[in-house]
Amino acid sequence: MDRREIAALLAYIGRLDPRTIRTNQGEARDQLAQWHELLADVPTATPHGWDASVAARQHIRTSPYQIVPADLARPWESYRRDRLARHSDPTPSVDPDDQAAWSAELAGTRRAVAAGTTQPSQVRAITTGQDEIEPRLAARLREIGSCIPPAARAALAPYRPARAAREAAVAQGKPDALSVRCEWCLAQSGEPCRRRGIGPDGGARGTAPRDTPHPGRLDLAAAQQAQQTAQAQQPALA
Ligand SMILES: [Zn+2]
Repeated sequence: MDRREIAALLAYIGRLDPRTIRTNQGEARDQLAQWHELLADVPTATPHGWDASVAARQHIRTSPYQIVPADLARPWESYRRDRLARHSDPTPSVDPDDQAAWSAELAGTRRAVAAGTTQPSQVRAITTGQDEIEPRLAARLREIGSCIPPAARAALAPYRPARAAREAAVAQGKPDALSVRCEWCLAQSGEPCRRRGIGPDGGARGTAPRDTPHPGRLDLAAAQQAQQTAQAQQPALA
């Protein structure tokens, strides 16, 4: 509150409790200076529930003691505390790699909530969820949809051919060969098939991953997928 707002508040308080009125001009000036010094950071009102005149009226209504600045500062502090306690930091809309902007947005949102200019952002699970997501953040999520951005994923494909082939197969609705164990090279599920190197002496000489799974493994995955599809279509018979 600035000096004018404090003066207006003191005039209102004086109407409710005439004991607070200072008729001597010097005393009135001191009172105004004192209240302004102590309540400069307390707003007159916020769009979300705080009103200094309501807090003053409540004190005069319920307390036999003359109102002092603390009787407004205390409810203001508990208003701030209560709002911050109900606030769960929403995910900022800025680039997560921009540490400074990220922290600045988190802190800025908290300050706005504490100051009463923004409503606390509650945990998404309790509120409705999707439509509460900040629009700029929603756009970013749509663009990425994975922890690996599409451009990086495409750039990595040549270096992980088995993985890329698997993603392509799943995207096209084909059976995922890597979801089963290979009966041929004994690769565990999730691991690419391996080709065995034969040394000059005819012995095994280590293995290297294959870009494509062994044909038998593909057949096995297809059979398993067909079986799962059939089961899903007849849940009542299970
Ligand atoms: Zn294999």
